[in-house]
Amino acid sequence: MVRDQLRRAFPENLQENAQLAQYTATRIGGPAEFLLTVHSAGELEGAAERLWELDCEFRLLGSGSNVLVADKGISGVVVLNQAKEVKFEEQRVWAESGASIGSIARRAVEKGLSGLEWAATVPGTIGGAIVGNAGAHGGDTASTLAHAEVIYRQEGRARWDVERLEFGYRTSWLKRNPGEAVVLAGRFVLSQTDPAETRATMEDYVDYRRQTQPTGASIGSMFRNPPGEHAGRLIEAAGLKGERRGEAEISPKHANFFVNHGGASASQVHALIKLAQRRVAEKSGVALELEIELLGDWEVNA
Ligand SMILES: Cc1cc2nc3c(=O)[nH]c(=O)nc-3n(C[C@H](O)[C@H](O)[C@H](O)COP(=O)(O)OP(=O)(O)OC[C@H]3O[C@@H](n4cnc5c(N)ncnc54)[C@H](O)[C@@H]3O)c2cc1C
Repeated sequence: MVRDQLRRAFPENLQENAQLAQYTATRIGGPAEFLLTVHSAGELEGAAERLWELDCEFRLLGSGSNVLVADKGISGVVVLNQAKEVKFEEQRVWAESGASIGSIARRAVEKGLSGLEWAATVPGTIGGAIVGNAGAHGGDTASTLAHAEVIYRQEGRARWDVERLEFGYRTSWLKRNPGEAVVLAGRFVLSQTDPAETRATMEDYVDYRRQTQPTGASIGSMFRNPPGEHAGRLIEAAGLKGERRGEAEISPKHANFFVNHGGASASQVHALIKLAQRRVAEKSGVALELEIELLGDWEVNA
């Protein structure tokens, strides 16, 4: 029934039982029951409206760099966002929500536009960055975002400013209300400086990351930093650097990064998550909270 409705509504861009591992930063994840790919903000808006009309729950997937998808996959519809148009206008940049924040940041740096240097090495889309208020090196998405164009289930299309988005540390209204609104695009206001300056700042950040973080397939920071602490330091103090489950490993370089050396399963990463939470609680009395999101059918395979 739902299958027939979806096939009729999206005759062109709908795949069934589509493997998600190729769309996630960890290269892990089972199939989406339905995978709908959109290529513009207009298509994304139309898809969200139609899915809400059909009363069909769906989740957005940008670059999959902040999610761990269950081995059993995701029931229902996943919308893969490939809306990537970007426009620079003097000190402003407008981008569709599927555009890469890292490549926008690097283009801004080359123009001497300051404000997004922190993002040059952050994977992910503009949509994902707005949802999670991505940030690094003291900067974050909220600091330069003028507004997001969203489609909200209750009220339709609107511009949401920073206050309406209710940003916090790696969070926003959108993150706290999954499935209720979709980011179509974002507009950022940057400040003009000397390209040599923005380039030097970016290079410092790139060097720092190279020295402190592992390369390879991971989801970035697994846990939020507890107030006044670093999750990585607590996991290291619990003796877990280099701990492995199959091909999944707590990085010996930075213990808040869990790396897939090739062929790791979501369950193996999940086992390391549970181990880190248990050992850190025993050793330091701190309850580590996930920064990443677990997506999909976890009850059955966690
Ligand atoms: C190696 C590595 C390093 C990282 N370093 C950092 C860092 O320094 N700082 C940092 O903050 N993060 C970091 N991350 C995490 C990640 O890059 C960010 O969280 C990023 O913003 C996620 O974007 P995404 O497109 O991959 O989102 P996804 O992982 O695809 O999605 C994340 C959430 O946002 C929702 N979503 C995505 N797009 C939309 C949309 N258009 N509308 C509504 N909801 C949407 C999804 O449904 C999901 O709930 C790192 C990740 C990796 C792998």
